[in-house]
Amino acid sequence: MNKICTKCKKEKLISFFSPRKARDGYSSECKVCHNEIVRLSAKRRALNDPEYMPMRINKLREWQKRNPERYRIAHNKRIRAWQKRNPILHRLYNVKSKKKAMKTLANSYVNDCLVKHSHLKIDDIPLSLTLAKREYLRLRREVIYYEKY
Ligand SMILES: [Zn+2]
Repeated sequence: MNKICTKCKKEKLISFFSPRKARDGYSSECKVCHNEIVRLSAKRRALNDPEYMPMRINKLREWQKRNPERYRIAHNKRIRAWQKRNPILHRLYNVKSKKKAMKTLANSYVNDCLVKHSHLKIDDIPLSLTLAKREYLRLRREVIYYEKY
């Protein structure tokens, strides 16, 4: 069964309309148009009502706290979708953050070094070992620097 959307005037399969208490049991606009209406009205409210955005952010934070696992999955999905849409930027950021981590001896870089040369797993590394390894890497860099100049 098909139905014509009152907004975009396109004929679509009935599964593109959400169930409603209307005469035929379905919403008069398709899901795509409905999402657009919801998005625009939220945007309008955000512009006109200064309390709207803080309220939405609070609600989102509460939901995140109640559903940490679902939030993590949704968050990763969004990030992966972004990476897929922006492959060049993603590679650039990846290289940049790796270089930065190397330069500042960030925990992530130090732990990578520890994992590479041992049977340790990244989650099993105690902070004291990370700190010791960072100190070792820092000193080694200094030695290499003085040998050079
Ligand atoms: Zn439509």
